[in-house]
Amino acid sequence: MTGVFSLLPEGRHGLLAPASAGGEDLSPYLAADGYAPLPVPDRLLDRIATAGLRGRGGAGFPAAVKLRTVRDAPGRPVVVANGEEGEPGSVKDRWLLRHRPHTVLDGLRLAAAMTGADRGFVYLSDAPAEHAVRQALAERPPDLPVDVVRVEHAYVAGEETAAVRRIDGGPALPRAKPPRPFESGVGGAPTLVANVETLARVALMHARPDDAALVAGTHLVTLAGPGTGGTALVEVPAGTQLKVLADLGGHGGAEGVLLGGLFGGLYGAGWTDLPLDQDRLNAAGGALGCGALHFLHPQDCPVGVAAEAAAYLAAQSARQCGVCVSGTGALAGTLATVAHGEAGDDTADQLRRWSRQLPGRGACGLLDAAARIVATLLAHFPDRVDAHRGATCPACADAAPGSGRRFTVPVP
Ligand code: SF4
Repeated sequence: MTGVFSLLPEGRHGLLAPASAGGEDLSPYLAADGYAPLPVPDRLLDRIATAGLRGRGGAGFPAAVKLRTVRDAPGRPVVVANGEEGEPGSVKDRWLLRHRPHTVLDGLRLAAAMTGADRGFVYLSDAPAEHAVRQALAERPPDLPVDVVRVEHAYVAGEETAAVRRIDGGPALPRAKPPRPFESGVGGAPTLVANVETLARVALMHARPDDAALVAGTHLVTLAGPGTGGTALVEVPAGTQLKVLADLGGHGGAEGVLLGGLFGGLYGAGWTDLPLDQDRLNAAGGALGCGALHFLHPQDCPVGVAAEAAAYLAAQSARQCGVCVSGTGALAGTLATVAHGEAGDDTADQLRRWSRQLPGRGACGLLDAAARIVATLLAHFPDRVDAHRGATCPACADAAPGSGRRFTVPVP
């Protein structure tokens, strides 16, 4: 099934409903309590903390902790709405900016009020999104100066330190941490870099306080995969079984799933019982990441999928950290030998060692993503890896190394 739809309880308003083919008109947004005054910033912050809202950019950090940290840092804060969606399998951020620009800008305004920021930025790469945001800013001039900064799309361009560097006029490349943006961000000021879905949820929690827990516990998820399933953007409560999501997206025949864009790893047997839950997926060795699910159908070879993902990540390496250049290159090159039936007796052990040694050693999460793909391939599909020894796999022969084509999905 393709398109945009919601699994929220009847009558509960989310980010996707009411579905609209076009943009977001200001009048109905105002009529639904959008841009409502914020009398006591701490009350909204407490509501966000109590509801347990976590960031939706990939790391899943508690939103209230991040807001308070920026608020309490010395200096006048800056707030950034981060809509640069690096994961090729995710569409939610571009969709929100294109179709709910007022909701995102409202969330940015509220984040500024809660942190005491006097300046804001919207950071993105998508041209239609930029158009929608500029139109919304012209329709309702913001409470604080807001600049739109466009960047060339790249896997690492949305990483928070890359966003800060680009806004400051530098390259959109991650830098070593510390300092983190909350300590020294845009122009050296404490900076909140918040994903646009996180900000949109803050706006909803302000407009509808009674629904705060529901809003915080709901996710935008991109469902994609080969075949007739196509691409769907859905809004679902946390805890929804992955099997339900597969059926919903028309991928009921899938035999596995790649989670988090390319960040969350591959899952085989037992994946259908996993819930869409950050902590449970972490406990299972993976990650929810940005909430994009790519389903593997019987005609897909998990080895080919892993090899293609690793090759894409190696091609997207910003080539700043020596360990990332050599690590992603080694993982991608070795996975390619497995896919082509050229692996030696100790290849799987070598891959396993690297997947344990490499995580956490780059300046950003790209190297971790490549290592997790390898680790989960070996953990969940050992028989499929073994079956490639000395054998040609027709599905792997079709892989397009480095292109990311298999994972790239259009915005519905
Ligand atoms: S880990 Fe890789 S992608 Fe990330 S900053 Fe270092 S070289 Fe760039």
